[in-house]
Amino acid sequence: MRVLVFAVTFLSLFLWGTPVQASQAQPPGQKAGKYVRWYYPGQTSYGPVEDGGGNTGSPPSPGAFLTLPFMGPHIVTSLFDHCYPDYGTNGTICRYDGTQASAKVGGPDPGFDAGYAQTPAGHDYLYYDGHDGYDYALTYEPVAAAAPGVVILANWLDPNCHTCLSGQTIEINHGNGLLTLYGHLSKINVTKGQYVSRGQVIGISGMSGTATGPHLHFGVYNIHRSQTPVDPYGWSGSYPDPYSWDEGNLWLTGSPRFAGIAMPNVSVTAAPEADDPTAIDVAWSSPGSGNRYSVYAVFQDGTMKPWAGNAGAGSAVFHGRPGQSYWFWASVTTGLGWTSANGSPVVAVPHLNHGEAS
Ligand SMILES: [Zn+2]
Repeated sequence: MRVLVFAVTFLSLFLWGTPVQASQAQPPGQKAGKYVRWYYPGQTSYGPVEDGGGNTGSPPSPGAFLTLPFMGPHIVTSLFDHCYPDYGTNGTICRYDGTQASAKVGGPDPGFDAGYAQTPAGHDYLYYDGHDGYDYALTYEPVAAAAPGVVILANWLDPNCHTCLSGQTIEINHGNGLLTLYGHLSKINVTKGQYVSRGQVIGISGMSGTATGPHLHFGVYNIHRSQTPVDPYGWSGSYPDPYSWDEGNLWLTGSPRFAGIAMPNVSVTAAPEADDPTAIDVAWSSPGSGNRYSVYAVFQDGTMKPWAGNAGAGSAVFHGRPGQSYWFWASVTTGLGWTSANGSPVVAVPHLNHGEAS
């Protein structure tokens, strides 16, 4: 019986595809960070509007429908200018809560002629004269649909100029007269006409188009009024809203929150069977729905070979060779496109005793 097991194992080695390098996987017990945090110098504090737990200071409007277009804390690096979001430089920038910035407050941003520094001589882009959306500090990270809808643009905003405007851009029509725009992407996962769910990964952020660094430009625009920009944070200033096209606070519950979806977090177990230590029981699972797994066997020489994969959590028996050690790496992609991966402990298959049939 054991001979047959070995034959199957050796045959399987030849049937497996080209090994991928084990360096793509983390060592056992290690896993990649779920989120990458990144910020411009001088903007190191997480404020109430971007950490997914704060409050905008105004209640949600009756039409509130948005959740944050990413998961995990990411700071705002440029605000929507209520005075006035037309990319003109009129010298004053007004934040959703009434805070104003101008050359008199922090002084000109030394590296950006449409900006005013948050701190004197600072170089932070937070106050961006005429900005018509919000910039979030995402590096090259998954971007999520802020609400369900139909993709109406998934392309370069200007196909003839890859360093212009918002570069690779997605627009989603939410059927309520508003569209959301996601700019400067490095990768687009959706196509025009496709329906997307809230929290679905639609692309990867980047710095295509006109950008000084990787970030996500997120904008809300009125489809029926010449795509007039709308501030999703509404207006909670102590003086009248200087911008006449606001539609109130558009965040569900009144504050920016992450989409209420289960994020993947793979766990992989591997243990030899008590009555046959060459048989290793491997099992993998993760939160999330619509999960698809790829499971790799990693050999002690470092090669890593596709071994199992299926929909839903699973388990299988791996037949190892005496004197060899193995571990297992599983990656998962949820139905909404979020991914996670993790490794099992190392399992060593003992040498066979002399005299034992092999
Ligand atoms: Zn922007």
